[in-house]
Amino acid sequence: MAVLVLGDQLTTDHGPVVDADRVVMVEARSFARRHAYHPHKLTLVFAAMRRFRDRLRADGVTVDYYEAATFGDALDDHFDAYPGDDLVVMEPPSHGAADRLRELVADRGGDLELKENELFLCSRAQWAEFADEREPPYRHEEFYRFMRRETGYLMADGDPVGGEWNYDDRNREFPGEEYDPPDPPRYEPDESTRKVWEWVTSLSGSYDTDPLGPGWADPEPFFWPVTREDALDALDAFVADRLPEFGPYQDAMLGDEWAMNHALLSGAMNVGLLHPTEVIEAVVAGAKTQPETPLASVEGFVRQVLGWREFMRHTYREAMPELATANQLGATEPLPDFYWTGDTEMACLADAVDGVRKRGYGHHIERLMVLSNFALLYGVEPVELNEWFHAAYVDAYHWVTTPNVVEMGSFGAGVFATKPYAASANYVNRMSDHCFDCVYYHTKASGEGACPFNALYWEFLDRNEEQLRETGRMGLVYSHLDDKRGEELEAISDRANEVRKRAKELEL
Ligand code: FAD
Repeated sequence: MAVLVLGDQLTTDHGPVVDADRVVMVEARSFARRHAYHPHKLTLVFAAMRRFRDRLRADGVTVDYYEAATFGDALDDHFDAYPGDDLVVMEPPSHGAADRLRELVADRGGDLELKENELFLCSRAQWAEFADEREPPYRHEEFYRFMRRETGYLMADGDPVGGEWNYDDRNREFPGEEYDPPDPPRYEPDESTRKVWEWVTSLSGSYDTDPLGPGWADPEPFFWPVTREDALDALDAFVADRLPEFGPYQDAMLGDEWAMNHALLSGAMNVGLLHPTEVIEAVVAGAKTQPETPLASVEGFVRQVLGWREFMRHTYREAMPELATANQLGATEPLPDFYWTGDTEMACLADAVDGVRKRGYGHHIERLMVLSNFALLYGVEPVELNEWFHAAYVDAYHWVTTPNVVEMGSFGAGVFATKPYAASANYVNRMSDHCFDCVYYHTKASGEGACPFNALYWEFLDRNEEQLRETGRMGLVYSHLDDKRGEELEAISDRANEVRKRAKELEL
């Protein structure tokens, strides 16, 4: 029996690979053309796979590494060499992938055994225990507390350390002039990564879903970790240098600081180079040796990895396949072209897209409160927005992008979100330095020069009143909308129409 190791399962410490003496890996070139993937994403995956293969071989494991046009072609070659071979694999987290794999193997006379995916913290059985006691929609906060109790992280004698479960109210600060976070580490590509980079960048313009002609991205030199050693170094660097201020500035956005105090570890975690358990344990242990680290930073980080990441994975599992196309607000607008080009006068959006074009990265608040907030208010069809996020980010995989974009960002299904993450320019102004330099006035909602976020925000509420007025916590904002009815709302609506027209004419 051989262990099939997929490109997002690059671990030697978990799953069937631990005892393997024969491993099969497939580098399917068709994957690279399925979406208009950012060159950093493709380089990260393919370079990490090759380095992982080399590491296994150095450890004495036989690795059959196939470079083929498609997964099926690679399996043809494999079963020619090993007729009737039995394969075992950890279940891939994206919907339908396990069935497709099983079919491909069965069609070639082989057998594929699926094992639980051990690259997550919360097993299927644990999720079932959580979910069986509750009715959907599931609440993240309840899940997070359940996982804290299950794992014992940040718990003392059955109670949360410090007495509270959640310290988010201390994590919404905006940095002062003296703020100067250390630069994040960059990992120089070796010869093998450089080869992948050359191939990947030569692909421009040959995507199946080519958005706007060749080379939409504007990639800076590749720097993400692609080996276990470099991923561990990135984790150490985060804990040593950036963790203490992670919490307070977690939601802030500065034009000159793309990384702020974020971990930049999602790319490595999502391909298996780091396990969420070791990431959490490094953070908890690191905080003990750095007494100046606020509990709010540690708890805030643990909540992201132990809570949100696992919650997304399991709610996705439960809500698919419907989640992928969910669109409960009936949004039908196409994605504005400036998501690919960055060509807009809106300073916050231009900066967020610029970061994506350069690095395939943006931190959570840029993703949620700038890019998906704008698309939500504008009325972009969630499928299209999901396609963009999936292509554009180094850490994007269907299992994690879909619940974040379709549910959290677009309020597409109501499987866990209680209300849309919709905000006017007020939010961006409070949490960023973008409005200061912007040609649009964050204080104006209508008329020439008014920030598009404002008109779109009120028009969004008005347009979706039937569905949103009664949902959860929307009462207060609707009472503000009521105060605007009449001429003010008409002017807002005119401005929203103008914004859409200009976005389509590439003049926003
Ligand atoms: P930090 O801000 O330092 O956070 C620490 C870690 O927590 C992350 O590395 C990540 O593993 C985890 N995490 C935090 N929030 C989430 C979340 N909502 N879902 C899953 N993991 C989370 N994350 C992805 O890994 N891939 C995606 O394709 C992706 N798409 C997103 C799209 C939208 C619209 C939104 C709102 C969020 C998305 N996220 C995605 C979640 C989150 O924004 C990223 O995980 C995070 O920005 C990665 O950067 P970091 O490692 O510096 O994270």
